[in-house]
Amino acid sequence: MLTSKLLEEKNRFEHLFLQTANIMFGRDMEDLTKENLYQALANTIRQYISENWIRTNNYYTEHHEKQIYYFSIEFLLGRLLNCNILNLGIEDICYSAMHDLGIDLNSLFEEEPDAGLGNGGLGRLAACFIDSMASLGIAGHGCSIRYQYGLFEQKIINNNQVELPDNWLKNGFAWEYRKAEKEVSVSFGGNAYMKKMPDNTLKLVYENYTTVSAVPYDVPIVGYHNGVVNTLRLWNAEVSQNFAQNGVLTHQQLQEKVKFQYQLKAITSCLYPDDSSNMGKLLRLTQEYFLVSAGIQSIIRHYKKDFPSLLDFPQKVAVHINDTHPAMAIAELMRILVDVEGLPWEQAWDITVKTMAYTNHTIMPEALETWPIDMFRPHLPRIYLIIEEINRRFLKGVRQRYPGNEDIVHSFSILQDGHVHMARLAIVGSHSVNGVAKIHSDILKNYSMKQFNDYYPHKFNNKTNGITHRRWLMASNPKLTSLIDDLISSDWKTDPEQLIKLLHFTEDASALEKLNKVKQFYKNNLATFIKKKYSISVDPLSIFDIHVKRIHSYKRQIMNILRLMHVYNEFYENPNFDMLPRTYIFGGKAAPSYYIAKETIRLINTVASVINADKKVNKKMKIIFLENYGISLAEKLFPAANVSEQISTAGKEASGTSNMKFMMNGAITLGTLDGANVEIHDAVGDDNCVIFGLNANEVLSYYQNGRYSAWDEYNNNPAIHRVIDQLLTGPFTSNGDFRSLYNYFFGSNDEYFVFKDFDAYCQAHKRIEKKYRDAAAWHKSSLINIAHSGMFSSDRTIKEYADDIWDIHPIKLPLEN
Ligand SMILES: *Cc1c(COP(=O)(O)O)cnc(C)c1O
Repeated sequence: MLTSKLLEEKNRFEHLFLQTANIMFGRDMEDLTKENLYQALANTIRQYISENWIRTNNYYTEHHEKQIYYFSIEFLLGRLLNCNILNLGIEDICYSAMHDLGIDLNSLFEEEPDAGLGNGGLGRLAACFIDSMASLGIAGHGCSIRYQYGLFEQKIINNNQVELPDNWLKNGFAWEYRKAEKEVSVSFGGNAYMKKMPDNTLKLVYENYTTVSAVPYDVPIVGYHNGVVNTLRLWNAEVSQNFAQNGVLTHQQLQEKVKFQYQLKAITSCLYPDDSSNMGKLLRLTQEYFLVSAGIQSIIRHYKKDFPSLLDFPQKVAVHINDTHPAMAIAELMRILVDVEGLPWEQAWDITVKTMAYTNHTIMPEALETWPIDMFRPHLPRIYLIIEEINRRFLKGVRQRYPGNEDIVHSFSILQDGHVHMARLAIVGSHSVNGVAKIHSDILKNYSMKQFNDYYPHKFNNKTNGITHRRWLMASNPKLTSLIDDLISSDWKTDPEQLIKLLHFTEDASALEKLNKVKQFYKNNLATFIKKKYSISVDPLSIFDIHVKRIHSYKRQIMNILRLMHVYNEFYENPNFDMLPRTYIFGGKAAPSYYIAKETIRLINTVASVINADKKVNKKMKIIFLENYGISLAEKLFPAANVSEQISTAGKEASGTSNMKFMMNGAITLGTLDGANVEIHDAVGDDNCVIFGLNANEVLSYYQNGRYSAWDEYNNNPAIHRVIDQLLTGPFTSNGDFRSLYNYFFGSNDEYFVFKDFDAYCQAHKRIEKKYRDAAAWHKSSLINIAHSGMFSSDRTIKEYADDIWDIHPIKLPLEN
């Protein structure tokens, strides 16, 4: 029942919706497709958002608020309609208005393209962060690229991954606002050098360069129930309108130039589908500079409208770089301050370092970005000169600290062995360097970046990642949300650490039964989805054991599937073998060029098809590989999960964030002591998660002492011996063997310790099963996990960034009259 105030609101909404549909399509409502209705609804919501957006921007200007700019080459946004309605606080009127018109709101959500402008965790973190900044009333904005094609769409054909283009913009993107008048131009190539002037001063000459036009598309980011709307600015590369006008061109020159301009336009065509290795490609370098140059230019332009002196810049602006992809922002800010604004180097450097902060996301050496100088210098000649000068001055300090030790100087150098080392540039040019979970930050400080931590002891710090509980609990799990509301009131929505109050209900049989019912509801839904999409029946009462994330050797999906091969063997060997029914769900994309990851997908699907077709076992176990893992699929999975597989080799997963999403939805973590699993374990204790395997120190000692032998493990462990042999011959090889994976294990000496951790992993699964047999104890653990998950809200993370790194305070917008 709506109150009269809400009724009035609903009527206003309904009227606006009908009017919008009318203006957009000029047809009767009955003739509109679902997609039309989605567009009309999104555009109705857009009007609600616009009012708040204008108010927020006016407030920031009038109050001279400090602005945060979060630069990330990826933003994995997912769909926005549902979350926007939730954050605006108009769910009730919206549902009820749609209901009046005979429209099923939930089915309209599915019409929205899933904005997949990211690969995985790093891009999703950026999306959670901008949601938290807006919801906390922090003036923080995202800055990224408007890729015409997002991460590829994955299909499984004959057990193999096939990649299709993700043409997500084909029907338009309802949330973007093109801002043609805010175009900037970005320069590439040409020659840059210092020229001696008659008065003996040096002057920069930069000539013969090419420019491309960068046009921003702004996406409003809606805060939760606070009237705040921040901005995600996505840059699009376009042909400069006046590119033919400077200088007189012959027709031939014009043709050449047109051709080149169209090449430049391609810079924002595609997202790189690889998140775990360094992509040494000119186009990627071009994308990175395009992003930072456009972004920094527009920040300076905006700043100068409101503030007279650049000396106050760090008091009014903070720039955060998400990993090293935007690290050239440091050099670009220097370029503008020195070349354009005419500041002396020292002053510009002081401003730059105070402005910039950097988050490291990995210690995996193959993922650390470096660029060959031979590629870098001709493409970005001025930026190269600036980096050279930054490095020269930096190394002067290093030499003073370590006199006569040129080996050390060499290992600090941003320019080393013909490469530009982006992480080193990011550390030198920022006042803060943070890791993303306690164990990760400790490894950075004490091991992989130890020398930098010794040199700059106060720069390094930890900020454990988080996830927005608005999307990952409130929007995707409404039934759990209302159960929590009933138990502890709804204050946790703006203060998620209040979820801890759920601990009062750990002995409350009725609360635990309600929790179970909610879980069962989503398991039923997921079973229906699987049946519909893959024609496979899964037992909704079985344990739902879920392993979803990018496919990568260090994440060890292969250990999971090898164990399932082992369970299958055991089942045939031992007539009394007993196990609880379980549904094993996998999902995740492999980078198209990552052969071992793709072979892993083929193995999972092959084993799945054999086991699912085997009537002797398929009542007890089913294996499902869900195609095209992304935000929309993820939202269906976490609410339905019983077991969260987090089994990376200890020390390799910087933080992980799906571990947090699972926990917040009541799944039990089965994991190694890696990334944020360590903090989950600290929070819930041994009884409420299942931890196994080598720890990070043990892994490190094996790497250091070289005493690990994959052959010895294979020869001494019969279970491993058998499943590894089954990669070559046996029940799973009738359509081709897996010699690729067999050779990989021995060729790399089992680099991620799958053989070593295998038995411990099998034991861990036995502990899970034992725990699940005691239903009450399982539900209690589930509740305890939810209760402790508030600390993993990205609101907590963002408050720490705001206090410790950005020095910014939340605003409170005056209420609308
Ligand atoms: C959260 C999330 C990730 C990150 O998962 P990890 O298990 O932490 O690697 C990747 N992809 C999607 C779609 C996600 O929602």
